[in-house]
Amino acid sequence: MNLYMGKMLVVDLSAESVTTEPLRAEWLREYWGAWGLALAYYTDAVSPEVDPLAPENAVVIMTAPLCGTLVPLASRMCLVSKSPHTGTIFESNVGGSFGPELKYAGYDGIIIKGRASSPVFLKIDDDRVSIECAEHMAGQGIFETEKLMEAAMGAHGAKTLAIGPAAENLITYSMIGSESYRQFGRGGTGALFGSKNLKGIVCRGTGGVRVADMARFLERTDHYTKNDLLCDDNLWAKTDGTPILVEVTNEMGIHPTRNYTKGFNGRKDRLNSDAIQAAKLGNRACASCPMACGKFTRVNSAEIEGPEYETLCLGGSNCEVHDLEAVIRFNRLCDDLGLDTMTCGSTISLAMEMTENGVHDFKLRFGQVDEYLKVVYEIATLSTERGRDLAKGAKHLAAKYGAEDLSMEVKGLEMPAYEPRGNFGMGIAYATSERGACHLRAFPIFATDPHDIDALVSDVVDAQNANSIKWSLGFCDFWGTINTTIEADLMSAGLGEAVSAEELDQAGERIWTLSRLFNLAAGFTAADDTLPKKIMERPLEAGRHEGRVFSRPDLARAIQSYYQLRDWSAKGIPSSRKLAALGLDKKTL
Ligand code: SF4
Repeated sequence: MNLYMGKMLVVDLSAESVTTEPLRAEWLREYWGAWGLALAYYTDAVSPEVDPLAPENAVVIMTAPLCGTLVPLASRMCLVSKSPHTGTIFESNVGGSFGPELKYAGYDGIIIKGRASSPVFLKIDDDRVSIECAEHMAGQGIFETEKLMEAAMGAHGAKTLAIGPAAENLITYSMIGSESYRQFGRGGTGALFGSKNLKGIVCRGTGGVRVADMARFLERTDHYTKNDLLCDDNLWAKTDGTPILVEVTNEMGIHPTRNYTKGFNGRKDRLNSDAIQAAKLGNRACASCPMACGKFTRVNSAEIEGPEYETLCLGGSNCEVHDLEAVIRFNRLCDDLGLDTMTCGSTISLAMEMTENGVHDFKLRFGQVDEYLKVVYEIATLSTERGRDLAKGAKHLAAKYGAEDLSMEVKGLEMPAYEPRGNFGMGIAYATSERGACHLRAFPIFATDPHDIDALVSDVVDAQNANSIKWSLGFCDFWGTINTTIEADLMSAGLGEAVSAEELDQAGERIWTLSRLFNLAAGFTAADDTLPKKIMERPLEAGRHEGRVFSRPDLARAIQSYYQLRDWSAKGIPSSRKLAALGLDKKTL
């Protein structure tokens, strides 16, 4: 097959079996790859009522059609399952080189079911695939686990996915690390592996990806690389990477500070792109990427690839920690122990506000570095009472102590680092995202009027559909100017079949709508399409939008407008007309 390997790896850890099955060709032009195809496989295999941490749950890891080719920024890989953190359908994606390696080994994706009776790891060495004992890796951090798996493969440069102690302890915001500093970061992907006693996966592949017409494929790839990717709108990723957003969001007044109390951090200079550049050691790129947006930094003995913007804000400004060395140490601890820095930072900032407000004394205070770093280890290892409390995430921590008005999450997922009172579009994006508060579904921070609800609803719907297909084709977020016309042309050249922008647009809407159907079947309702109380009731302090709230009536109007635009009912249920148009009317969940 062109672009696809034509084969799925099926791992049943309860039965200790590894088999292969042909890729479901009938799904390819409906779901295309990565997010879409993983969603199709997952919803076909698992009931929406499944307990995410039960052996009956499945985890689907899927590459994308252009992954492993020379098309730049196209090698991200997705994981789809039901989240143990939110109970929603959940897609998470990772860059690096594991995706291409899996295809070079001969597989488009992996379906993982069941639960091993003791810790194991999966070894994929082309067509030699085995389930191996990982008892000697139990309790090890991600960095060491990856080294041990690479050594077990006996091949330097084998690609790895691994979990740390946080995931073994089933912490619902634990993550899966890859190549040390890349992650399936959000939603508790690590706990999914942990619940299956799966410590990691190591992969080595020696094959390649076939394209229909190499000359045309290379010509098209070269054309779009020179004339679209490497333009001013995208080159920030190469020069600055995501830390550039520290200045951008402060200027916009949407930089969460002090657990989303303020929209501006007066000490941003300690954490901005200039501070990162001063600490920079070098760059790192994902496979086939000329941008190399990853920045290695060091302050004194603290070293990391990063920190990325979300960590600088949620582990820095939002905790009022303005010490770059401390944020690097926080980032490194999370990356090794296996915690999502966003949820971890947000939960710590909540505990800081609860302490300062006298709700409960966690001995965590804004700007206080020692306890902030200590508690990360306590969370991952569940070694203290406050660690066990914070390991539940913001929603459950707030509920336990009656502080729901301070918890900054949607559908249980802690908010990213863009303040919705300063940009209603981000609020609409968070409220309607299938996986809870997320900035990777729609990102309207550059809207002309950040409070024009009608225009922002339309922007959010368009972006959600566009990103659904963009992630399904494996593209990185940072090719910001790509569109379905470019994607269709590259796919046509690789597949040797005509692919239209219109069918990709429709696939994006199909993927978004199927995710909605899963969440409805899992028990979510329109009442869950909402925002934290603090956003709706407490005026923002500091910054350009000081005094703003995103009021309940404004949000209700935005949500109804969103449903109408999507042809969903007032209760947020897709119409039968829409389902038929998307070919989802016969879909059973
Ligand atoms: S821009 Fe950055 S995250 Fe995206 S593919 Fe390139 S190196 Fe990876």
